[in-house]
Amino acid sequence: MGDVEKRQDRSPAPAAFEYVSSRESRDLVRLAERYGLFIGGDFVEPRSGEYLATVDPSTEEPLAEVAQAGPEDVDVAVKAAREAYERRWSRIRPAERAKYLFRIARILQERSREFAVMESLNGGKPIKESRDVDLPLSAAHCFYYAGWADELEYAFPNARPKALGVAGQVIPWNFPLLMLAWKIAPALAAGNTVVLKPAETTPLSALLFTDVVRQAELPAGVVNILTGDGRTGADLVKHPEVDKVAFTGSTEVGKAIQRELAGSKKRLTLELGGKAANVVFDDAPLDQAIEGIVNGIYFNQGHVCCAGSRLLVQESIAEPLVAKLKRRLATLRVGDPLDKNTDVGAINSRAQLEKIVALVESGKEEGAEIYQSPCELPDRGYWFPPTVFTNVAQSYRIAQEEIFGPVLSVLTFRTPEEAVEKANNTPYGLSAGVWTDKGSRILWAAQRLRAGVVWANTYNRFDPASPFGGYKESGFGREGGLHGLRPYLALGDGR
Ligand code: NAP
Ligand code: MG
Repeated sequence: MGDVEKRQDRSPAPAAFEYVSSRESRDLVRLAERYGLFIGGDFVEPRSGEYLATVDPSTEEPLAEVAQAGPEDVDVAVKAAREAYERRWSRIRPAERAKYLFRIARILQERSREFAVMESLNGGKPIKESRDVDLPLSAAHCFYYAGWADELEYAFPNARPKALGVAGQVIPWNFPLLMLAWKIAPALAAGNTVVLKPAETTPLSALLFTDVVRQAELPAGVVNILTGDGRTGADLVKHPEVDKVAFTGSTEVGKAIQRELAGSKKRLTLELGGKAANVVFDDAPLDQAIEGIVNGIYFNQGHVCCAGSRLLVQESIAEPLVAKLKRRLATLRVGDPLDKNTDVGAINSRAQLEKIVALVESGKEEGAEIYQSPCELPDRGYWFPPTVFTNVAQSYRIAQEEIFGPVLSVLTFRTPEEAVEKANNTPYGLSAGVWTDKGSRILWAAQRLRAGVVWANTYNRFDPASPFGGYKESGFGREGGLHGLRPYLALGDGR
């Protein structure tokens, strides 16, 4: 430990390397000036007559106008989904359903470069991430559920699984295409039709996905896309002909939806926020842990529900670990999302930036010590530097509330019991990380951490076969794996 400290004392934080910019071509995507609503297999003008602008958050440049679906539009879309369900989708053989999903998966792979650019352009995330994470995982999710479509009897033996009907799905802006795939793939595999509402700030990849739907020759009305703001989401979830609601987003809106649906027969799954603990024990390989911590909180600018936003470090290694972390932070490249060298992109929206700034201010006021990467931020667009808070008490807002930005709060612990107690001291329970050399300690901690996912010596790893979802205020229901099919099925044996 002494050595590390000495080295840290002598060498200043390394300045970021000079890189030659390597920009992915924006010309890979072609944007329309204005988009309608995708209902019954075609784009239609919104009956509401309203449109809203969507921007590139890294420059604030307007990209396109998208329709703001009103109650009448929601009604038309749900009816189109109902008709497609009754007339086509519930009647075709399960192996046919699989065929369409396999096609969608393959087309996503074929067009992945185009989709990656669209995702980074509209959402602000680094192209490196949309290319290597969002796109491959979206396609993998479709492949995975395509495989289940004609095996439902084996998935739920002796239970006569049956589709529910029309699913109303509302998704957030942090992983627009991936969340679309997480919602649409299991719904379609189980035999449902869908009406999906992307987030107000990131509608463009869902609109591009309509191209895939048509290219795959999916029967009209099986997938309908309604753009709009929160009001459209509210109209969709309360529509009486929606059989199942799937929502990913904030805990606040999740609670409102649960209240709205109480007493109705609609099925509901909620994937909400998180405040995950990433727990580093004193026997952990430090350099590896640093990479995991960085990936845990700065991946996708920290706009990740399962982000490792609370770092719990064993006291004896806190100093060298924080020193290493600061040095690593200084080397993160923040900037143009379309540059392949970029590690940290733009904040998704002005509203989200304001939320991050307010929470960071509260951290300073409450007495935490702040360190920010010395990176240069672009003049236009929404940006926030990678940030670490030390001296954080459990009661501070930055230790309690979901910041959903590139901001890490560091707390310490002395014993494994204290680590678990602090990790579980949150209303959330979506994910956690454990870093240690000992397999037995991993198992010990994983049994005690109240979180839907526990990563050991890694972080933010996803696989379509592995269920994902929360405890407590992080929601209920699972996505991924066999568990992810269950919310889209009625089991005839009464389950
Ligand atoms: P949000 O409002 O919950 O947004 C999620 C989705 O729900 C969006 O499509 C949103 O539309 C829609 N929506 C909004 N109000 C609705 C309502 N009353 N009924 C039905 N749907 C509704 O989240 P946000 O405002 O974008 O972000 C706020 C905070 O939520 C973030 O700072 C973060 O802490 C958390 N969050 C968590 C996740 C997650 O993955 N768990 C994802 C995003 C955000 P609009 O986009 O038009 O608002
Ligand atoms: Mg909102």
